[in-house]
Amino acid sequence: SARASGEKAKSYVPSMGQIFLRRFQLVTQFRQSLEDGQVSVHYQPKVALPRREVLGVEALVRWVHPEFGRLAPDEFVPAVEAAGLVDVLTDFVLDKALARIRKWLDQGLRIGVAVNLSVRSLNNEHFPDQVQASLERYGVPAELLTLELGESVVMADPARALPVLRALHTLGVVLAVDDFGTGYSSLAYLRQLPVDEVKIDKSFVFGMGSDLGDLAVVRSIVELGHSLGLVVVAEGVEEDAARDQLAEMGCDVAQGYLISRPLSEERLEAWLQARTTR
Ligand code: C2E
Ligand code: CA
Ligand code: CA
Ligand code: CA
Repeated sequence: SARASGEKAKSYVPSMGQIFLRRFQLVTQFRQSLEDGQVSVHYQPKVALPRREVLGVEALVRWVHPEFGRLAPDEFVPAVEAAGLVDVLTDFVLDKALARIRKWLDQGLRIGVAVNLSVRSLNNEHFPDQVQASLERYGVPAELLTLELGESVVMADPARALPVLRALHTLGVVLAVDDFGTGYSSLAYLRQLPVDEVKIDKSFVFGMGSDLGDLAVVRSIVELGHSLGLVVVAEGVEEDAARDQLAEMGCDVAQGYLISRPLSEERLEAWLQARTTR
């Protein structure tokens, strides 16, 4: 029957032992993979609404493993975090991001880059000094760097995260709360944090065309975000209708496959060129 063959197709699902072994391999190989050039950073454009000027890009890590092929960050980032290696990842991505901003500045372009942070970076009291030193090394103004923090990242240990967030904010770095709406924090709670931007989780953006509940969530995040003086970003914008609806609501920034998929540095350059010379 179809059901039996469906089950057969699923027999490739790895066993717990295989998953464990693979995770173990990934974390032991991670440092070396950075040196070997297996890990790179792709960039996904963010545009202002309604006119769609490019404001910046989000840095998203990519790992092409010699044995496993393309690995999704959702697979290896948690493993790297659990192994206590996430500072190595953050340093790598931050360095690439700042080098990229520097190249644009040298071409007369002001394009910001957003880097995703792990909860562990906020537990590291030296992190703000490290960020400052990197900004100085590249001569990049702090406001061109955005740091994105998962909602759960901020909620995990607010008392510990707060001094680090304040220090980063004092540097002038833009702080964004990512995946907003999926966790337990409220916008009222956000008021107590030194954040500048809120990113509506893509699950609500996907659903807003067909689900009135999702639409209501998006609308209320836009309205309350603005009442708190935050820039509101929607991720996961895949359709014209969603973009138009977001623009109508006054959402400030859109990101998603409709605008562009995450691109290699080379392809991003071509994408930017094509847009500005059109
Ligand atoms: P995120 O920060 O929420 O990033 C957005 C994810 O949504 C990215 O997946 C992006 O490719 C995807 N995306 C963007 N637009 C669309 C769209 O229109 N439709 C759909 N279906 N998806 C879209 P990606 O690159 O696989 O990254 C997954 C997660 O891995 C990220 O979620 C982030 O939490 C984490 N991550 C990625 N790079 C880094 C990094 O350098 N450091 C850390 N700590 N985490 C990272
Ligand atoms: Ca993000
Ligand atoms: Ca997100
Ligand atoms: Ca996410």
